[in-house]
Amino acid sequence: MSELPERSDDEELQPPPGAQRPKAPVRKEAARRRFIRTAALACGVVGVSLAGWIPVASAQKTRLRPPGALEEHDFLSSCIKCGQCVQVCPVAAIKLGDLDEGFGIGVPYIDARNQACDFSCDAVQCILACPTGALTYKKPEFAQKRAGMKLSRDPVLKAKAKDAEPTLNLKERIGVARLAHPEACLAVQGKGFKGQARGANFKGTMRYMEVDRWKPVPVRDHPYERAVCDLCVSECPIQDAIKLEEFTGADGSKRHRPVVLEQCVGCGVCEMICPVEPAAIVVDERQEWKA
Ligand code: SF4
Ligand code: SF4
Repeated sequence: MSELPERSDDEELQPPPGAQRPKAPVRKEAARRRFIRTAALACGVVGVSLAGWIPVASAQKTRLRPPGALEEHDFLSSCIKCGQCVQVCPVAAIKLGDLDEGFGIGVPYIDARNQACDFSCDAVQCILACPTGALTYKKPEFAQKRAGMKLSRDPVLKAKAKDAEPTLNLKERIGVARLAHPEACLAVQGKGFKGQARGANFKGTMRYMEVDRWKPVPVRDHPYERAVCDLCVSECPIQDAIKLEEFTGADGSKRHRPVVLEQCVGCGVCEMICPVEPAAIVVDERQEWKA
């Protein structure tokens, strides 16, 4: 007796002409396809989830966190990504982390060059809005504390300098400013500045005491005219955080350079307002101040 030839799955699906289509193999094939689809979908979901680990395993982006943030590890594990801080920030300085940030996806950060925290709300809104204590004035005992986080004295907000209680609610720095490109600094070059600090298209806002203490206005609507550029110093919201220091240039002319002082809280206003591109002065997150 001759053996029947083996049939492929496709052939199994084709009934002989005129014959009634058998139901069981079709159901089997449909189930097989469903299984393959489900498995592929599951692999996709797991793959996308694991992709979030890549930046964690390799180079996780360092970000300037909002005022009062716990140390990075504690912050990432206690922030529930609710976005409350984002909603309440009056100058819209707080953004949420993108897809490529591993554990940092959806976690709030500040991109100071685009929009710094100007402390015009006294560093109160985001900290009060945070429901988990990921942003807090007072770090719990068990929380990590980095060296140099604490300021040697309470920072005075220039806008409140004449108030009975002029100090900022926040007593610690979130970063520290640094003159990263002295050669590009206009003051170091002996130059002044006239015009819109960041050009006509810049979207950043800031509260100017002389305009309205309570209402942020676009930086582009507030042009400057300075014989010697000192924008990082004049717009710094904290008293005694930065000053211009005079020195003599190689050609014997009088020059100035911004010097960051111990009271710098790392808000990034100086980085935002610096009119040269890229900014001559930048903020390094979670750094300690060094003389
Ligand atoms: S020096 Fe810059 S970062 Fe420091 S407090 Fe002033 S504006 Fe903020
Ligand atoms: S704002 Fe920029 S260019 Fe002007 S003095 Fe400060 S660092 Fe220099």
